[in-house]
Amino acid sequence: MSHSDGARPPKRTRAEVENESDLDSVSQRQGNEDSAQSGVKRDEEFWFHDGSVVIRAGETAFRLFKGLLAAQSPVLHDLFSAPNFAPDEHIDGVPVVRVFDAPEDWRYLLRILVPKGEMIMLETIRSLKDFPLVSALMRLAHKYQIGSLEQRAIEALKRMYPNTFESFVQVQSEVYPADANNTRQLASNPPVLATYAISATNLARLTNTTSVLPAALYHCVCLGGAVVRGLVREGGPVEFLSEADLAICINATSLLTCASAEYVDSMQCSLSYTCGTPRVCGLIWNEKMKKLKEEWQLRLGSHALRGSAHDYRELCTSCLVLAQKRDLEERRQVWQRLPKLLDIAHVVGPWPVKKRL
Ligand SMILES: [Zn+2]
Repeated sequence: MSHSDGARPPKRTRAEVENESDLDSVSQRQGNEDSAQSGVKRDEEFWFHDGSVVIRAGETAFRLFKGLLAAQSPVLHDLFSAPNFAPDEHIDGVPVVRVFDAPEDWRYLLRILVPKGEMIMLETIRSLKDFPLVSALMRLAHKYQIGSLEQRAIEALKRMYPNTFESFVQVQSEVYPADANNTRQLASNPPVLATYAISATNLARLTNTTSVLPAALYHCVCLGGAVVRGLVREGGPVEFLSEADLAICINATSLLTCASAEYVDSMQCSLSYTCGTPRVCGLIWNEKMKKLKEEWQLRLGSHALRGSAHDYRELCTSCLVLAQKRDLEERRQVWQRLPKLLDIAHVVGPWPVKKRL
């Protein structure tokens, strides 16, 4: 990295952007020192030697092109074109704009706005492992009014926290793998993917994407006590649920416990009419029920949508089909009631209901 590209301009008067911009969290730094002396790190991925502006997030600096950013964000456009845009901080003579976002979030954003390698196709993202990318894009696209990007990120979030039962079941297996056995284990060491539910809930509130709320809040309930510890975000502050959403989780726990109890009742042994080995299947089914009751007592009620079909694989084919069908139908019933159980039906609006098969 060269320190000599671009001559240092003469000292400017202090920029008074506070009156020029309504941005709370973007400012031009007061003071005259060159950041080269203050321990700011030049980002390895986004430092263009002929860039015309430096965006500084924390101690990380990105050297970028004003025109390219301004063309994509009206907020940055207004900031750069303000009559007295003249930051006091410079690196290599290039003006520095301070933003109060996590540098990791900006790196995700820049991979979309200034792609250097493989294009990121948001439309194909489904897996929760990409949640940090999607959440960073949503936060920053919302803040800097990059409308089309915000919409694409919202669509990705909707696929992760869907509002149809079929999609939910698909995502569910990723959130709670079969080896996560009970609530105590989950509370002390929740699957990291489930903890994203806190952030998903907050993003849904921020962007008024209410269809995401039932699935996101349900997963928050599933965290049990761990929900109050919040989500530790990469490079950012710990993120917590709002008090109102925390109250929703606490209130819903008992109702979901009842739903869980109903589920367990519905799974009582009743063999298929076409079962050829009723004695064997009866023993297996009763044994599984015993295990289910023990496990689900530990799970409290927060796992009403988790299901147990994977426990019945030793049954004969006819009985297995019966158990799986019942498992699916019972969970579908809970799913249909989910907005009401969470007491957010009035916020969520119409909830897609599929007829029983
Ligand atoms: Zn059978």
